[in-house]
Amino acid sequence: MSSSQIQPGLLRKMTVRKVLECLQEQGPLSRAEVTRETGISAPTVSKAVADLLDSGLIEEGEASGNVLGRPGKLLMLARDSAQVIGVVLDSQICSVVTASLAGDIDSQRTVTFSTPASYGALQKQLTEIVQDAIHGANALTLGIGISAPGLQDGERCLFAPNLQAINQQRPAADLSQATGVTAFCMQESRALCMAERLYGKARGMDDFAMLDFTSGLGLGVFSGGDLMQGHNGLAGELGHITVDPAGKLCGCGNHGCLETLATDSALAGMISERLGRRLTVTEVIEQLQQGTLQAAEEVNLVCEYLAIAMAAAINLFNPTTLFVYGQLLSISEGTVEQVVRMTRRRTLDPSFQACRIEAAETTKQHAAVAAVVHNLTRAAGPRVAE
Ligand SMILES: [Zn+2]
Repeated sequence: MSSSQIQPGLLRKMTVRKVLECLQEQGPLSRAEVTRETGISAPTVSKAVADLLDSGLIEEGEASGNVLGRPGKLLMLARDSAQVIGVVLDSQICSVVTASLAGDIDSQRTVTFSTPASYGALQKQLTEIVQDAIHGANALTLGIGISAPGLQDGERCLFAPNLQAINQQRPAADLSQATGVTAFCMQESRALCMAERLYGKARGMDDFAMLDFTSGLGLGVFSGGDLMQGHNGLAGELGHITVDPAGKLCGCGNHGCLETLATDSALAGMISERLGRRLTVTEVIEQLQQGTLQAAEEVNLVCEYLAIAMAAAINLFNPTTLFVYGQLLSISEGTVEQVVRMTRRRTLDPSFQACRIEAAETTKQHAAVAAVVHNLTRAAGPRVAE
């Protein structure tokens, strides 16, 4: 489709999206710099900027640090006039954060709580905390993002093996209705991918993968500049591949799934079982580092299966970078080396050679923020085809 065949309204929205993405990728810029970076004419950029200022997504301000030779007035993602709220739903601990449109989380206002057993209790607690976050700020709340585990079909949670209370529920619709602010729900591995792309080390990258091995094991794939979805948004469930047919019962009902052997929770679970007392993965890592706990056998086993997961992700999707998100790699310097060595052994060499393995820079809290920012960005207009 040539641009002359596109309706003027649509073309304007495409420009809005392009200008917004330019500011997301490059940070604060003057109007002249936006014109240069996007290759769009100055009058068209001005119209798009006016739309973005109206929507509250961006604001105009002074450059922080006042760099010599730079124009004073810069366009930037909203930080004072507007905010977004991120909600992390997880098996043990949930959290609610507020952030600027540039993804800066206000840590003073972060609220965490133990995940309630029922959906009703979860919804009630979330509504109260989110209402406080909306009304306790001077800024306008533009949206709420929810990062949730498991499978989702549109806005409905279909099946979350590690958080069954949300099965068949619509947390985004319910939270929108309770608070009057639009909420968006996103599968957590995909939201992590978006967070790394928007705020982390994957800025500007079009082909990368994100392996989350915290409570469950999930894979998000960013391919050709977009998130891989699958037929109806269920792709990436690497955690439920059977690797031990006679293995432990998984939250999904199957036995011996990869996520029962290759995650932070799997490690904490194995050690807790042997000791006869419940330890979190944070406690396990602390005690290993202090030398008050010996668990070479369990650490080895979990690393072995984590390497299988990493090799599978690299062999299947040929990413330029595989980001890994989980705590157990921080046990020691040696743990990372060991897992990378094991991964190398199990990956086809050309694919391994083409792929960097890096720790993710962003967190699930950033992921929840990215879930809302990604949806607000999409709502601003369709992407210009390259
Ligand atoms: Zn499973």
